[in-house]
Amino acid sequence: MSEPLHQIGPARAYAGGVTVRVIRAGWFRPDAGGFFGVVPKPLWSRLVETDDRGRLLCRLNLLLIEAGGKRILVETGTGSRMTDKDRDIKGIEGGEPVAALRAVDVDPASIDFVVVSHLHYDHAGGMLGPDGQPSFPNARYVIQRDEAEAAHGDELRLQGVMEVEQLDAIRAARLLAEVSGEVELVDGVRVLRTGGHTRGSQAVLIGAEKGGGRAGDPSERAIFWGDLIPTRWQIPVRWTSAYDDYPIEAIEVRNELVSRAAAEGWWCYFTHDPGALPVRIEATDRGGFRATE
Ligand SMILES: [Zn+2]
Repeated sequence: MSEPLHQIGPARAYAGGVTVRVIRAGWFRPDAGGFFGVVPKPLWSRLVETDDRGRLLCRLNLLLIEAGGKRILVETGTGSRMTDKDRDIKGIEGGEPVAALRAVDVDPASIDFVVVSHLHYDHAGGMLGPDGQPSFPNARYVIQRDEAEAAHGDELRLQGVMEVEQLDAIRAARLLAEVSGEVELVDGVRVLRTGGHTRGSQAVLIGAEKGGGRAGDPSERAIFWGDLIPTRWQIPVRWTSAYDDYPIEAIEVRNELVSRAAAEGWWCYFTHDPGALPVRIEATDRGGFRATE
């Protein structure tokens, strides 16, 4: 692998004095058939190649957002609590968020909020460190209430899939901030429940709706999609993954948000995209959408 395991990108400024950097926390190789779900291979294989085990080379991308004197980390990677067999099947290298932050000189103790898009292992697996203690002891962990309830529900599909133990440990440590719907964390940074991928999946909306008001202030906005759109390859709104628990809802909410992103020029951050971020989305003349640099 020529790219280093851990990297931090340049800071980008958004409306309201918000800055965002991408932290690459390692590699992740999801099964291509599962990742593309209903999409026939002749279509997706035009976009991306697989390895000899039928897997895609993806990233574990975290965001470091700074706004209003606060530091917000988005996602916690896989952490280090998976079995070696699981790490091998899923092609995980790295994945530990504290190691990733330290590697790029960000102090984990300086994080004020940790936004977890949903409770699957590759997003919530690093809420706790190898020692079982919270990875970010000074942070509030922001999770949608619907997601926390689904994790504790009795749906067979979810058994063993959600990071329930880690959720409970964060709650016991009094670091859990359960939210519902659209909630502003600090000026210019909001979480938004999207559902679709999981019951309480959330995206992050970045940039104040009104800019700073002074000439030269950045006026742009951005979105972090979580697994509602894991990479730029999945922008076509009907391309539901086999891991989407609520595919009809996923298509509807993707269509609504992708349309807004294209119309309003939002910059897009994708949680598993291996390419340069952010990108924008544009409407095509055939009624669809695609990524544009
Ligand atoms: Zn994921």
